[in-house]
Amino acid sequence: MDNNMIEDIIRQVIDDLSKEKIIIKQSNNTSNYGVFDNMSDAIDAADIAQKKLYELSIDERDRFANVIRETILKEDNLNLMSLMAVEETAIGRVSDKKIKNKVAALKTPGKEDLKTNAISGSNGLMIEEYCPFGVIGSITPTTNPTETIISNSISMIVGGNSVVFSPHPRAKKTSILLIQMLNKALVESGAPANLITMVKEPSIEATNEMMKNPKVRLLVATGGPGIVKTVLSSGKKAIGAGAGNPPVVVDETAEIEKAAKDIVDGSSFDNNVPCIAEKEVFVVESKADELIYHMQNYGAYLLINDLDIEKLDKLVSQENGKPKTEFVGKDAKYILEKIGINVSDDIKLIIFKTHKNHHLVTEEMMMPILPVVPVPNVDEAIKCAHVAEHGNRHTAIMHSKNVDKLSKMAKLLECTIFVKNAPSYSGIGVGGEGSTTFTIAGPTGEGITSAKSFCRIRRCVIKDSFNIR
Ligand code: NAD
Repeated sequence: MDNNMIEDIIRQVIDDLSKEKIIIKQSNNTSNYGVFDNMSDAIDAADIAQKKLYELSIDERDRFANVIRETILKEDNLNLMSLMAVEETAIGRVSDKKIKNKVAALKTPGKEDLKTNAISGSNGLMIEEYCPFGVIGSITPTTNPTETIISNSISMIVGGNSVVFSPHPRAKKTSILLIQMLNKALVESGAPANLITMVKEPSIEATNEMMKNPKVRLLVATGGPGIVKTVLSSGKKAIGAGAGNPPVVVDETAEIEKAAKDIVDGSSFDNNVPCIAEKEVFVVESKADELIYHMQNYGAYLLINDLDIEKLDKLVSQENGKPKTEFVGKDAKYILEKIGINVSDDIKLIIFKTHKNHHLVTEEMMMPILPVVPVPNVDEAIKCAHVAEHGNRHTAIMHSKNVDKLSKMAKLLECTIFVKNAPSYSGIGVGGEGSTTFTIAGPTGEGITSAKSFCRIRRCVIKDSFNIR
C-alpha cells in the first residue's frame, strides 16, 4: 500500500468519524471509551475512575503511563493521529506532528518525577509526598491537539489523577479518536475505565460547565491569554500555560551558518505553531547579511520588495492585528502562492528584513514567517528581544559564544525556557537534554510541567518512631 492509499483510508476514517459512524462502543455501553454526551457524566465517570486509581499502587500508575506510551508509539497510531490532527485543524506538518507525538510519549516523565521528601530526627519521621488532586480539567489548544493530551494524560495519571479534557472544538474528531484509543488500551491493561474523558461536542459552554463543577479540583489551561485569564479567575487552583513570542538574538561571536540552520529548523518546525518556536530575530548589523544568506541556503525564502512584505502582512493579519486563523500553521509555499510567488517544496520559511516595531515582529503569528531585524550591537538586540517578548517570560533563544551576553539575556528576559546555540525545540527535549511537556506554565510558575506539577504536597508525621540511627 503506498502513502496516497494510506492517506485516502485515513481521510475516509475521518469522514466517518465526523458522521459519527465510528465511535468505539464499550461492552457495558455506559460510555464510549471516555467520550460522553454531557459534561457532568464525563466528570462523574472520571471521578469514579480516579477513586479506583487511588486504590492502586504507584507502580500500577506508572504501568498505565507506559500503556499510553506504547499505544502512541505504534506506527499506525502515530501516523493516524498525526495526519488526522493536520487534516482536521488544517494546522502544521504531519512529519513534525509525528516527532512531537513521539517525544510526548517518550520523554514525559513517569513515577521517577514524584520524589518523597523525608526527614528523620530525634522527634521521629516526617515525609512529604506528591498526592493527587482528584479530577483535573485540562483545556487543550488547536496547535498541539494530540501532543498535549498525550503528555498531560501521562503526567496526570502518574500523579494519581483522572482528567477531563476540553479540547478546542476544531480538534474534536482527533481528540475523540485519541481519547478512545487510550482508554481502550488502558482498560485492556486492567486500568479503571474513564481515566481520560471528554464530551462528544466540545464547546465554550461545556468548558465553563467543567470549570464550575465542584468535582474538578484543578484546572489546567494550555492556550492563549484569554483562556489562561479565565482559569485564573475561576476561584479554583489553576495552572496557566499561555502565549509566547520567542525572540532570537544573534551576535557577532555566534557560528553564523549553524545559527542560520538552527533558526530555520526551529522556526519552521510544525509551521511555527509551537509556542516555543522562533518568532523574530534580532541580529547585529555586521552579521545580518551573512545570516540571511545562510538562512536562504537552509530553506528560507527572502522577501526583498517592501510591497510584497506589505501584501504578506495584509494577507495573514486581521484588522485588529491578530493572525487570521486560516493562515495559522500553513506551509510557507502556500502563503507565498497567495501573494503571487511560486516556490519549490523545499521552502519552509519566509523571511524579510524589517524594523523592531513591525507588526509581524510584535504579534505572535504562528506561521512560518520570520522577520529579521538588524540592530547596531548585541546589547541593543537583547533590549529589543525583551520588548518583543512582551513580558510573557515564555521562551527565548540566543546564538552567541559570549557567556556574559548569554547570561545578560537570560537574566533580563526571565523566560521559562532559554535555549543557547540550538533550535528552540531543544528546549522541550527534541535533540536537547531534559524531559518534555506541551504545557509550559510560565504565568503560574510550574514551568516545564510533569507529574509533580499536577499533585498536592501532603505531609505525614510519626512522632518518636522510625528514627533508627
Ligand atoms: P486558544 O486560546 O484559542 O484556545 C485554547 C483552548 O482554550 C481551546 O480549547 C479553546 O477552545 C479554549 N478556549 C479559548 N477561549 C475560551 C473561553 N473563553 N472559554 C472556554 N474555552 C476557551 O489557543 P489556540 O489557538 O488553540 O492555541 C494557540 C495559543 O496557545 C498560542 O497563543 C500559543 O502560544 C498558546 N500555547 C501555549 C502553550 C504553552 O505550553 N504555554 C502550548 C501550546 C499553545
